[in-house]
Amino acid sequence: MATRNITVPNKLLSVQDLTELLAKYCNAEQLAFVRKAYEFADKAHGGQMRKTGVPYIQHPLTAAHILAQMEIDVNIVVATLMHDVPEDTNVTIEEIELEFGPDIAGMIRGITKLGKLKYRGVERYIENLRKMFMAMAEDIRVMIIKFADRIHNLSTLEGLPEKKRERVAIESLEIYAPIANRLGMGEFKGLLEDLSFPYLFPKEYRQVKEIRDKAVSEKNIYLGQIIKKAAAELKKVNIEPVDIHGREKQLYSLFQKLQRKKWDVSGIHDVVAVRIVLKNLSDCYATLGTIHHIWTPLKGRIKDYIAQPKPNGYRSLHTTVFGEDGKVVEFQIRTEAMHEEAEYGVAAHWHYDENGTRLPAKDMRWAQELAKLQKEILTNIKDLEEMKVDFFKSRIFAFTPNGDVIDLPEDATPVDFAYHIHSEVGNKCNGAKINDQLVSLDTPLRSGDVVEIITDKNRKGPSPDWLKFVKTHLAKTRIKASLTANQSSWLKNFLQTGKK
Ligand code: MN
Repeated sequence: MATRNITVPNKLLSVQDLTELLAKYCNAEQLAFVRKAYEFADKAHGGQMRKTGVPYIQHPLTAAHILAQMEIDVNIVVATLMHDVPEDTNVTIEEIELEFGPDIAGMIRGITKLGKLKYRGVERYIENLRKMFMAMAEDIRVMIIKFADRIHNLSTLEGLPEKKRERVAIESLEIYAPIANRLGMGEFKGLLEDLSFPYLFPKEYRQVKEIRDKAVSEKNIYLGQIIKKAAAELKKVNIEPVDIHGREKQLYSLFQKLQRKKWDVSGIHDVVAVRIVLKNLSDCYATLGTIHHIWTPLKGRIKDYIAQPKPNGYRSLHTTVFGEDGKVVEFQIRTEAMHEEAEYGVAAHWHYDENGTRLPAKDMRWAQELAKLQKEILTNIKDLEEMKVDFFKSRIFAFTPNGDVIDLPEDATPVDFAYHIHSEVGNKCNGAKINDQLVSLDTPLRSGDVVEIITDKNRKGPSPDWLKFVKTHLAKTRIKASLTANQSSWLKNFLQTGKK
């Protein structure tokens, strides 16, 4: 069970697919409760269809399936099945509460309140984040459902128009994934990122995937030998791991690392790593010792995230060694509890243990994390930028006064912005305001800026000087085109009238 990876089912599901999964940890009464919720939601959504052309019920059913793979509390599964009912059908929350009780209704109320996040101006954006954090503070389970909801939506993005696809992918990468990360939900963070990745950087996605596939096929047999040898040596010292397995690095996370390393794959040792899951803490350190006894560790690559956990609570021992034939291998060593927390984060607290009892939900790290995160994000927009993932170091998002988003490269200027709205806005651009302040036209824009372009309809055209500072290809081309056109019309005029 330590190797469980969440997969997004890509076939049509039946309620049996869900209950079969749940039967591993739920009793008959709970299964009946789930079935009742499914029938309730199915009836409420009636003949509604998804944009992809499948019955609407497939969406909540798949989201519930994703969560059931984590062996999550059955009430969360039930709420997930009905999460879109109040927003998309005539059935009210009151009716749900009557049938399913206040706990379920409370979660669905939280999700409905969240509504749909949209990029419409900084104010609305901040307002949406605020809503999200309030919902989280009230009941973190709402956020867990929201993640599953979003993961399924991302996996069916094909059904949406291109513009909308991009927006959903950006939101997921900018808002959802960092929150999942901060909540320690590595598995969800990875899915949110890897599902958004191809829509935002299709070319890079293919490159990274190729790099990973190559590394995996090269290392597979070799890792098999390493795992065998490690298991044998551990047995000699009476350590019985719960599980040893190979793990592939998530694609977007590999992409970020490749960028940091200037695309030098040879410097990245964890494209594929070996993970050893153990019963207790002392076994972890003993295992580290054994691994170092068999293979020589690389200098400076031993990391004790157990003694010093990462800020999001991640705990494990990492070491990179020279394996057989001097090939480099990374090991990740952890207990079962650490593994669960690393994959599922706060959601692990709603996970059933082997006895089927719910783990205590109190005194959790997430409460602290949440308070920190909330403070960070809501104090001002500047903090919001710090939270953004690397992606936003190379791209910025600026807003028109109407709240439309213009996506530009870093250090783009108001002139780039103007040409991205329309070439006429660019050609007639006479000045600009950033967040209500008049600025010079070469001022670098920052994410979240609200940019107002002041146009002058009598303006003849762009200034050749703009070519010295614009950052986008589009602006350059349009400026040049307009300058040439002006020149030729001036020339025509001169030839006809002899006047300059
Ligand atoms: Mn939904």
